[in-house]
Amino acid sequence: MEFSIEAPLATEITRNAINTKRKILIVEDNFINQEILTTILEDKYGILTAENGLVGLELLKKHYKDISLIILDVYMPVCNGYEFLEKIKENYLLSQVPIIVTTASEDPQDEISFLQMGVYDFVTKPYNAEIVRVRVDHAISLKETIANLSAVENDSLTNMYTMEAFNYKVQQILSMNSEKRFALMLADIQDFKLVNDTFGEEIGDHVLVEAAKAYRKYISFYAAARKGDKFYFLCDKLDKNIEANVKSICKEINDNIMIRTLNIKYGVYCDVDPSLSVSILCDRLDMAIDSIKNSYNEYLAFYDESMREKRLSDQRMEADFGPALENGEFYPWYQPKVDLQTGKIIAAEALVRWIPEMGKMVSPGMFIPLFECNGQIADLDEYIFTQVCCFQKQRLEAGKQVVPISVNLSRNSIYRHDIVKRYCEIVEEYALPLKMIPLEITESATTESKVVQRFITKANEAGFEIHMDDFGSGYSSISMLTSSVFKVVKFDKSLIDQIGTEKGEIVMKYMLGASHAIGLKVVAEGVEKQEQIDFLKAVGCDAIQGYYYSPPQCQSVFEQMLDADKPLGPKA
Ligand code: C2E
Ligand code: CA
Ligand code: CA
Repeated sequence: MEFSIEAPLATEITRNAINTKRKILIVEDNFINQEILTTILEDKYGILTAENGLVGLELLKKHYKDISLIILDVYMPVCNGYEFLEKIKENYLLSQVPIIVTTASEDPQDEISFLQMGVYDFVTKPYNAEIVRVRVDHAISLKETIANLSAVENDSLTNMYTMEAFNYKVQQILSMNSEKRFALMLADIQDFKLVNDTFGEEIGDHVLVEAAKAYRKYISFYAAARKGDKFYFLCDKLDKNIEANVKSICKEINDNIMIRTLNIKYGVYCDVDPSLSVSILCDRLDMAIDSIKNSYNEYLAFYDESMREKRLSDQRMEADFGPALENGEFYPWYQPKVDLQTGKIIAAEALVRWIPEMGKMVSPGMFIPLFECNGQIADLDEYIFTQVCCFQKQRLEAGKQVVPISVNLSRNSIYRHDIVKRYCEIVEEYALPLKMIPLEITESATTESKVVQRFITKANEAGFEIHMDDFGSGYSSISMLTSSVFKVVKFDKSLIDQIGTEKGEIVMKYMLGASHAIGLKVVAEGVEKQEQIDFLKAVGCDAIQGYYYSPPQCQSVFEQMLDADKPLGPKA
């Protein structure tokens, strides 16, 4: 049947001067019944009418957002009440509008089957005005209360739980199913901020909606929540297909959003401990993801106790740092840089070691990344720099042989606005030539930003010698080589390890030739084997730093090596 929207709307507008009333849709073929209901309700509500289920359905599709209630007759031509209910069940949004059925039947079986179909309530014919008003008011207010609660519970973008609701539900599920084992999972879109910044928030929202869709498809969960770009799931103990599924998720999202680079990492905590609060449990999912954060090709990590231990040890180190610095528990150790032709020490690198008063030596791999994250590294860099100045000064004053000893500068140090001035003051205090303490800047820091560029220029103007560290380990920085501020480039161990392969050797040979051609000296780092020495000698590398000659040494051993002034042989 053809349906026209004008008629009912026109009726509505003439009946309601102001359009702010809640609206009721009356689906009823009997004109007199329509009129009676309208008269009972129009004081308080805006009324739309439809003469059968089909017209009612079309009106509902157009106005479902504005309709607070449907009053539905059972027996109508074209599309009756039952068919109407069946149809709206197919559409989630339409089925959210509460329905009161009008019936002349006294048969309780009718009421039962309607309740089973999801209707809220009944009014019987002939109508009692008071009863109709009370039931209508009641159904509308009940629905609105539920809707308000659900707004607090549900994220409007993805219709998953909010974190508050998730915490509550998970706690409930865990406590009510103590014999069952569950897993929690976190899916975290990496660098999502970049998506927002590059494509705008609207696309960002679209990505989240697509992500939610894909998660729904591939992850079976009891509860799911979204917090920003993080999605949390409570699942069965462990889904065996999880690995295959997370791969499909990424592909599916990428196919639907046309951002090929979207990278999602997953943290899983199997067999969760139900005695812990949900926020602690979720925190462990973060720890799992943290463990693969910097690894390009790992995207799934399972929480284990060692991660919590690492977190605790990190927290302990963070707290111990200040007192340890004051107690003088950090020491520069020295690794020689050796002239390939003469075998003699021509320079060294200072590498920090933490030797607590009580306890074992901690190697920088343990604490440098941590202190880089929290910024404490800048204080440590300055401390080591000062210690090295002090060492150089002592040797100078004692009339002993002095070689340049380079120190490492982390990105945090470089970002200190007064860094060059501060380091110049320290050098002046010890009255040292600046050339005695070169600064090693890691390759990935050098390409990074204007701040780094400004630092390099300033430090160079002040007279510091700057070495490019870890060349070949990070992003391509061949263009940085041409910058005139660098005096030395250090080839990273990963390049040196290519010696022995045909292509690796060709690359090394050309990189070395290019460096020399633009006036840079080359230090090869991490050299361990005779064959590497032979190759580096043949291609004219300037200096070697590596276990082949010596590991980093404490000050007294290093001094003995310097004082001996003999060519170093391969370390036994
Ligand atoms: P790096 O600056 O690249 O230092 C070279 C690292 O390679 C040192 O590790 C050194 O012991 C190691 N190494 C040298 N020769 C060989 C070899 O033949 N084989 C192998 N396998 N390794 C070799 P270390 O002392 O553990 O230092 C690690 C990193 O910690 C350093 O890498 C540097 O990035 C950082 N670091 C050390 N001291 C400081 C410091 O005072 N300040 C800052 N910001 N970072 C530091
Ligand atoms: Ca270094
Ligand atoms: Ca290095």
